[in-house]
Amino acid sequence: MDIQKIRQDFPILSRTVYGRPLIYLDNAATTQKPRCVVEAISEEYYSVNANVHRGVHFLSQQATDLHEAAREAVRRFIHARSTSEIVFTRGTTESINLVAGSFGEAFLQEGDEIIVSEMEHHSNIVPWQLLQERKGVKLRVIPISDSGELDLQAFASMLSGRTRLVSIAHVSNVLGTVNPVADIVRLAHEAGARVLVDGAQSTPHIPVDMQALDADFYAFSGHKLYGPTGIGVLYGKEELLRQLPPYQGGGEMIKHVRFSGTDYEDPPLRFEAGTPDYIGTHALARALDYVGQIGLDRIADYEHRLLAYATERLSAIPGLRIFGRAPQKSAVLSFLVGDIHPFDTGTLLDRLGIAVRTGHHCAQPLMDRYGISGTVRASFAFYNTTEEIDTLAEGIERIRKMF
Ligand code: PMP
Repeated sequence: MDIQKIRQDFPILSRTVYGRPLIYLDNAATTQKPRCVVEAISEEYYSVNANVHRGVHFLSQQATDLHEAAREAVRRFIHARSTSEIVFTRGTTESINLVAGSFGEAFLQEGDEIIVSEMEHHSNIVPWQLLQERKGVKLRVIPISDSGELDLQAFASMLSGRTRLVSIAHVSNVLGTVNPVADIVRLAHEAGARVLVDGAQSTPHIPVDMQALDADFYAFSGHKLYGPTGIGVLYGKEELLRQLPPYQGGGEMIKHVRFSGTDYEDPPLRFEAGTPDYIGTHALARALDYVGQIGLDRIADYEHRLLAYATERLSAIPGLRIFGRAPQKSAVLSFLVGDIHPFDTGTLLDRLGIAVRTGHHCAQPLMDRYGISGTVRASFAFYNTTEEIDTLAEGIERIRKMF
């Protein structure tokens, strides 16, 4: 991979902050956008813009074609069977809320159990707690080891005839752990439970294949995948989506509205009330195309080497503790330096032009598990370099000596 050439596709990477070259290591929060994605947005606004579906005029048909072509691009990217399985949402959070609202309302009752894990993002906890309040379902939590791996034995022993849904992150946004989701799907299905996989942190880093994985639902966000903000995806198996009631009501999601009763559209439109973000879907397709041209296998391989390099460099710093030591990890490195508050480390690194994230990373139960209030998190993308990691390590050394 020619990283210097790739970096030229991302104009923001050549800016400075505080007079220093930007080193952007906050990719798990959101990724930067290649020029082609930003251009896809302005091109469509300048020359195509019209509301999609049911328009007879030229622009509306062209915009509809681009929007539906984006659905096909997503289907290809995650190897789903059909575009009927691709629901556009605002992002991972809305995708999970959609499942909680629709599947949860229709299929879950008091006493039913949902299994999540200790390493979940708040987006994969709070929607289930809201359902708990509405319907009296029970939330059970898979514990993790000190190295940040799921306790699969504990998981197997939690599964029972009461388990209706297992909702689990493919990759942890704090620990980087790549969870064995295929095993989890198999075990859950044997117990008769459905599985939702939170793919917010997997889709930017590793190839995913819906037909091989066999999960019932899979959620992810465009903005973490080099696409625009405000657009995301819920994959759902077609036979399952067909059984689900609408999540929100409005235009686009109906076949026929009468005051005596309304017929709903088939999936995916049934779950897409209102004008969709058709500019966002088109730009997301451009991002998937861009990522596809580099190749997720090559991205995974390069980022793996970056992570190994960063782990080695940072491990050599006295007093630095890394959280997340699973053998299968994605490009995330969470750490604390001695007893320096993560906010202080982050603020001082910022002055060196290095953007990292500090705090609980929307995973407070995970922070409780480790008995800490937060970490510093460096998260990598394929446009990062080992030189940037050197600057990060030197910056941390300076901060450590200051304290
Ligand atoms: N799950 C995980 C694992 C995440 O990392 C994130 C984003 N930090 C989310 C869910 C929520 O994604 P979004 O804010 O794009 O809806």
